[in-house]
Amino acid sequence: MDSQQFREFGKAAIDTVADYMDSIRNRNVLSSVEPGFLLKALPEDAPEQPEDWKDVLKDFNETILSGVTHWHSPRFHAFYPTGSSYASIVGNILCEGLGVMGFSWMSSPVCTELEVVTLNWLGKLLGLPEEFLNCSSGSGGGVIQGSASEATLVGLLAAKEKTVRRLLKVNPSMDEGEIKSRLVAYTSDQCNSSVEKAGLLGSMQMKLLKADADGRLRGETLKKAFDEDRAQGLIPCYVVANLGTTGTCAFDPLYELGPICNEQNVWLHVDAAYAGTAFICPEYRHLMKGVEFADSFDLNPHKWMLVNFDLSAMWVKDAYDLINTFDVQRIYLADIKTDTKIPDYRHWQIPLGRRFRSLKLWTVMRIYGAEGLREHIRVQISLAQHFAKLVRSDDRFLVEPEPSMGLVCFRLKEGDNVTKRLLKNLTEKKEIYMVAATYRGRYIIRFVICSRLTNIDDVNYSWNKIKEEANLICSQNIH
Ligand code: PLP
Repeated sequence: MDSQQFREFGKAAIDTVADYMDSIRNRNVLSSVEPGFLLKALPEDAPEQPEDWKDVLKDFNETILSGVTHWHSPRFHAFYPTGSSYASIVGNILCEGLGVMGFSWMSSPVCTELEVVTLNWLGKLLGLPEEFLNCSSGSGGGVIQGSASEATLVGLLAAKEKTVRRLLKVNPSMDEGEIKSRLVAYTSDQCNSSVEKAGLLGSMQMKLLKADADGRLRGETLKKAFDEDRAQGLIPCYVVANLGTTGTCAFDPLYELGPICNEQNVWLHVDAAYAGTAFICPEYRHLMKGVEFADSFDLNPHKWMLVNFDLSAMWVKDAYDLINTFDVQRIYLADIKTDTKIPDYRHWQIPLGRRFRSLKLWTVMRIYGAEGLREHIRVQISLAQHFAKLVRSDDRFLVEPEPSMGLVCFRLKEGDNVTKRLLKNLTEKKEIYMVAATYRGRYIIRFVICSRLTNIDDVNYSWNKIKEEANLICSQNIH
């Protein structure tokens, strides 16, 4: 493919994406294909001869699109949003166009420096304490990870190394392997699956402590767990606090957990994957009260900040904790830079290679501006509140717990079985998509405002679908 064909293919692909977005409401959210459909539709072997890009695009439209779950449909209300915007897509094209690696400053200076700049911008927009920012006088800074899962694992590995070094310094005769086997991590039973997985990957026992009735991990629960474990010779090492749990978007009180972690030399990581973006609006910052106690903080612009997957923004108070954990030198990685404030990002992450991801953060922050991003968050939350009002206007339903951010959880008062049936039937019809959670032992349906395209008519549409299905179920007298 030469540059002329690239221009034609690329422009046609952009038209295809724009057409797709413009007509996304005409499609069911969920696809109708059967498992294995693509294995049957595509040849068993890769093409031997080069093909025309027009044929590739035709197959995209005719075959590939048929198997897509439309995450950007305004009637997609499952999980949490995955970000998308034209600004981000263009940033991604520019990134792919350059195709550089940024593991060291010299491997592409701008790749490192734009990441520093954009994460300082974002950190300030969120109101993070200065120590987390590269532009402060300390050794803090931000780094782009691929996912919140990776950030949680990076934090865990750094906490492990830091704890081992600290204990060996005090008592050099201790056995390193023995120390590692006694380290314990903690989070709440409301944590995302990725937090539990970080414990598995990092070979550290991850205790899921019982959250309170509102889904929050409380200080007294954490303190008790530390005390009990210490009494048994275990060593508390790492805590993951959740700001916006996946099930019900509950917020752990950092101001309770933080002082306990700080007093006991335990690393506190904050997983604010979804809800963290809301802190760009000052009215939500009270929910991160106590963030100054944290050692690391992570949120996903690829969830709620209109940035396409993958881009997770992580800040640490002391970058040397990461460098001490991940620094492995090779002669071919030698760099000429001498400014220690400029990071060698390969020491802040798991892989060696790294994409120029900050380009899409940069394009989004510039094209929307801080005001545009705040507007996006406020509109989405107001749509969720509108939905909650609609549900509350129907006395067969209960909204529970209180709506949080862009999430509204609800159920039919008649019981779990009918609520389950309601979700099952709606999913089978494929017009709207939601998933379930549990709250205080009850089955609930989660309704999330996900797409940036969702407007009040879409919310009314989805509510009408829910109501119609509830009418059918109630008329059949299913219990
Ligand atoms: N943490 C929370 C609270 C989440 O809700 C999610 C995903 O929804 C994750 C972590 C995982 O995010 P990622 O896919 O970026 O690893």
